[in-house]
Amino acid sequence: ADRRFRYPFINCTNCGPRFTIINGVPYDRPKTTMRDFVMCPDCSAEYLAPADRRFHSQPNACPVCGPQLMIRDRKGHNIDADDPIQAARAALAAGKILAVKGLGGYHLACDALNEAAVRSLRARKIREEKPFAVVVKDMAAVRRYCLADEKEEELLTGSCRPIVLLQKRPDCPAAPSVAPGNNFLGVMLPYTPIHFLLFEDGPPSGNGNLSDAGLTALIMTSGNISDEPIAYRDEDALTRLGGIADLFLTHNREIRHRCDDSVTRAFRGREYILRRARGYAPAPLLLAREMGQLLACGGEQKNTFCLTKDRYAFVSHHIGDMENMETLASFEEGIEFYKKLFDIKPEVIVHDLHPEYLSTKYALEQEGIPLVGVQHHHAHVAACMAENGLDDKVIGISFDGTGYGTDGHIWGGEFLVSDYLDFRRAGRLAYVPMPGGAKAVREPWRMAVGYLNRTFGPDWREICQWPAGIEDSTVSFIQAMVEKGINTPLTSSMGRLFDTVSALLGLRLAAGYEGQGAVELEQVALRTANAVTAPYD
Ligand SMILES: [Zn+2]
Ligand SMILES: [Zn+2]
Repeated sequence: ADRRFRYPFINCTNCGPRFTIINGVPYDRPKTTMRDFVMCPDCSAEYLAPADRRFHSQPNACPVCGPQLMIRDRKGHNIDADDPIQAARAALAAGKILAVKGLGGYHLACDALNEAAVRSLRARKIREEKPFAVVVKDMAAVRRYCLADEKEEELLTGSCRPIVLLQKRPDCPAAPSVAPGNNFLGVMLPYTPIHFLLFEDGPPSGNGNLSDAGLTALIMTSGNISDEPIAYRDEDALTRLGGIADLFLTHNREIRHRCDDSVTRAFRGREYILRRARGYAPAPLLLAREMGQLLACGGEQKNTFCLTKDRYAFVSHHIGDMENMETLASFEEGIEFYKKLFDIKPEVIVHDLHPEYLSTKYALEQEGIPLVGVQHHHAHVAACMAENGLDDKVIGISFDGTGYGTDGHIWGGEFLVSDYLDFRRAGRLAYVPMPGGAKAVREPWRMAVGYLNRTFGPDWREICQWPAGIEDSTVSFIQAMVEKGINTPLTSSMGRLFDTVSALLGLRLAAGYEGQGAVELEQVALRTANAVTAPYD
């Protein structure tokens, strides 16, 4: 057999990890986390031979000289296994939860067909309702789970290998708890050799329960608890994931940069990226004009930052919700690394107008560089213009959850006549009271009180039927808050309007994650729309 048969750290110059293993530029082995592995004579010969496909492949390695897989218990002790992959497959088939070290961080994995395993992963991860992404063995298996059109198949099989949101088939065999109450499933195809080995045919040695076809779908969700950033350092992963995973399938190559899986979807034959990370970042966008060297610090939720140089905009990988110190540290490290990688010294720093965002505070702390504050939705419109190569005045419509307005209110349903420099707010959704501020995001029924009050006046309860689930006295209390204007900011947010409709329909009175009301409303709307236009059966 080939000397690399079943060795999972192979790649040529066209594939394999890059961003997640580099310490600096140029991209040479000593500046990657492969520096610890000295090439054996066979690998060196390939590396030096111009005709070899591994010529100058920086992470070139083999079982003799390269990184090694290992299986560990939740305390970090090595478990003696002839073949860590077979041990991992046996554990997955037996319903265990594994932490699997990937390219940009750890995944938590379990058999996506095993409802008990999925439920226990949910309970341990403290993620009660948010859908999990799955890695599915191959396209044939994907078609048994979901509907995939030509564009979706292109996204799934492309070299970026993102999570693609696909419509579930009615007979989708995935366990119900994988994506409860959701018509969509986030699906990836295997994208590292370790994934391919986990999906090998045949029963793992020492376990007769697995069908001859082997595993077909594994949950591979971010290795974190709740909303923390994904764990990528070995020690940190043990500490944070030791209470969740039964076993660790890991290896001794360091991950230099955290990078999540990208999430994307297709709509009418076009790609709409929801989370831009592995495979996409840090590839730049080409701008319509030169920008000079700018640093834009981004917002608070689903933060990314951006650095520009000449006509390029280097939009960072997904950093996450800037609500804790670890994400802030990841943001700061990311900025320093991109500055070094692309040789950029920002002449201007751009920040959101919200004074409490950690990204704004970061910008205000930088000394000696001029600052420009940009309204949140103007930034959304300008980003959309840049992405589509537009340079003229546009009518930009920004439907959003939250963004600090120039009048101090919370914007989010905005019609802006806009160019890159300036905007005029030509229209907006009506301002509606948001009783309790941020609390109204987690409890959409509060927004419903605000909307009903604004629409029908303070006596709305005489004419409206309130969905069951919230005590009358609690509603009265919130109604009083609205009337007296206590802790009740005003918002024109589209997200809060979706929340309101979702609450009034009795779909979602309290949200387990941000935007859940809107997500579930979309599911119901799609079911209705599909019944009319696209009967899949
Ligand atoms: Zn290759
Ligand atoms: Zn070697």
